Amino acid sequence: MTTLLGIDLGGTKIAAAFVHGDGRVHLRHTAATPANSGAGAVLDAIVGLAREVLDTEGAETPAGCGIGAAGVIDPKTGSVVSATDSLPGWSGTPLRSELERRLGLPVTAINDVQAHALGEAVRGAGAGHGTVLTIAAGTGIGGALVVDGRLLAGRHGAAGHYGHIASPAAIGRPCPCGGTGHVEAVASGPALHALYAESGGSAADALEVFALAADGDARAVSAVDRAASALGSMIGGLVNEIDPDLVVLGGGLAGSGETWWSAADAAARSEMLPFLRSCAIVPARLALDSAIVGATVAFEQEHPLTRETRL
Ligand SMILES: [Zn+2]
Repeated sequence: MTTLLGIDLGGTKIAAAFVHGDGRVHLRHTAATPANSGAGAVLDAIVGLAREVLDTEGAETPAGCGIGAAGVIDPKTGSVVSATDSLPGWSGTPLRSELERRLGLPVTAINDVQAHALGEAVRGAGAGHGTVLTIAAGTGIGGALVVDGRLLAGRHGAAGHYGHIASPAAIGRPCPCGGTGHVEAVASGPALHALYAESGGSAADALEVFALAADGDARAVSAVDRAASALGSMIGGLVNEIDPDLVVLGGGLAGSGETWWSAADAAARSEMLPFLRSCAIVPARLALDSAIVGATVAFEQEHPLTRETRL
């Protein structure tokens, strides 16, 4: 069975590991992303971490590498089309060709949220289902649609920016994209924290708001409910549009407790058309490995011969 190298590049952390043909993730290494030091430093950090995994004594040589990276990645060239302020200078980086040159391996590069969705849809909570809508809710809101194991990436590789759909709960609220009124502006972790502050509460971050809500702080419960309900309404609308077999809900907020989850689920169901309300919304299953696994799935799909040897 062939082994692949999987890499997950986020705005704060990089992870790399071997992914074996049976789905096992092995020799996981992590490092901080030197986000403010420019694209060259980020590439150096990725290569350095990959080398730590590849140079492990006794390690086999992988057949290739899949990377899920922050930013919109052009599906044809593997270059970074655009990136947010979390990685200054990242836009325009020829990610795939640089990694191929420096690692000496064939590389497939996709967006990290899309990699998370592909991993969950094919090897995680969505395995065995045909049409899987994955939503990742955390610092931002994103996701991807995977149909019969294939990611819908879109013309620019930008499909799945679900956080930037208009939401009645977000009217007038500024969104990190520069627009206003998008669901991310009311449903993300930072937005939830802002809702709590606006109601007169004081907390260091969204995590603390969740802790306060669990202790019965009424303003914290209200902020969690408003953020989760806005997200749920959006999910319900997407279910009406797509009619998926399953919705996989992951990201940092999805693991934050029953108050958030039940508010999101209830709002989604009240938005769904009556005959679609049986659509299951389930938690992601691969935890920290989803993007690493999904990036290697993308590699297998781009290199079918590797896939055959892995089956
Ligand atoms: Zn936006």
